[in-house]
Amino acid sequence: MSEHRPGVVPALLKDPYADEYAQPFWDAALDGRLSVPKCTRCGTFRLPPGPFCFECRHQEVEWVDLPGTGTIYTFTIVRHPLRPDLQNVVPYVAAVVELDGTQGAGARMTVNVIDCDPDQVAIGDKVRIRWEKVSDTFAVPRFAPA
Ligand SMILES: [Zn+2]
Repeated sequence: MSEHRPGVVPALLKDPYADEYAQPFWDAALDGRLSVPKCTRCGTFRLPPGPFCFECRHQEVEWVDLPGTGTIYTFTIVRHPLRPDLQNVVPYVAAVVELDGTQGAGARMTVNVIDCDPDQVAIGDKVRIRWEKVSDTFAVPRFAPA
């Protein structure tokens, strides 16, 4: 209970249990890099990683390191603890962040925005990634105001 911090959703897993398509994302995460797959045919970023391009069904990708910054596209403030042990965590911000370096070929992540006053968060706010290493195989991405 004491490790729970207000506004920070605790990592529930100790391993990403990634498949072959997502493992490079988690390998880069352990290095503190935000690396995402990009279709080699049409340039669409593929988040979450998967076997086929959402746009053209092409299979091959190149992995591109992004700057780890972005803009809040939309968000909600969670005020009700979904489990009793999250009582000390609420309120927290769950947001969809549009990642810098992907505009026009949109890549967005659904993340917890931390180190902020939830009532001051707004669509369009600039945010920056913060990795929390929770085990030797798993680093959790969160974002904080830039
Ligand atoms: Zn494509």
